Amino acid sequence: MPELPEVETVVRGLRSTLEGKRVRQFIFLSAHLQRKQPVPALRPEDYRGKRIEEIQRRGKMIILNFEGGCGLLIHLKMTGQLYLADPQQPVDKHTHARMTFAGFRPELRFRDIRKFGFVNCLPAPDIWKKVNSELGPEPLSIRWPEFRDLLQNHGKKRIKGWLLDQKLIAGIGNIYSDEILFRAGVRPDRLAGSLSLAEARKIFRSMRAVLRRAIELKGSSVSDYVDSTGQKGRFQAEHRVYDREGRHCRRCRLAQIQRKKIAGRSSFFCPACQK
Ligand SMILES: [Zn+2]
Repeated sequence: MPELPEVETVVRGLRSTLEGKRVRQFIFLSAHLQRKQPVPALRPEDYRGKRIEEIQRRGKMIILNFEGGCGLLIHLKMTGQLYLADPQQPVDKHTHARMTFAGFRPELRFRDIRKFGFVNCLPAPDIWKKVNSELGPEPLSIRWPEFRDLLQNHGKKRIKGWLLDQKLIAGIGNIYSDEILFRAGVRPDRLAGSLSLAEARKIFRSMRAVLRRAIELKGSSVSDYVDSTGQKGRFQAEHRVYDREGRHCRRCRLAQIQRKKIAGRSSFFCPACQK
């Protein structure tokens, strides 16, 4: 599933090309997108002629703001892709929505093989109300005192599950939680409340460093993820533990990376480097 760095990469790419563009046509190609609309939904035709004012990310979600207060809330979930395509490029059965623009040839396509993703047509204020009620703070904006307090206040959760809980901190998923904890030297099954101040501080720092580095490399492409131009990310080459079960640790070169189910998810860690 695309996490914060992948979604941020998509948003940056779309922002630089689509902000200021005027919608010519917006259509759903698959009925499931229509069925998943929340109330009070707008209709795709309501976007015709509207200009895109701003494209933003919140957690793993993408928010497009149009003039006149229309908004789109998009979640890529497992296999979603949101990218610019040449109109000549064939539309396959996994492409569920397309948006064309006035005076701009490429079109925006939403493609999703497993169909867990959604494109919600909502007024912008409803989108912000929804995301702010569902999501905790952003890991690249949260300050250390708030982060420390959140750890202490939810101390009975395993740190892996804590990092994955979107209500506590938004945007981190299975890959980055493992990579953050490896770099912090903390085992994923530790209780959040058992961490020393120094360990908590290490997690805070490595969270910021890992996410920033991953954004720099345009994310990790481990399955279907591509950015807004169809390119893969490069951070997977810097994964230390994720999906490396049984292989030697790249830091200590002695221990083998282990896999353990924590908070319902596979977690990868080095039993020697992580305490
Ligand atoms: Zn190691």
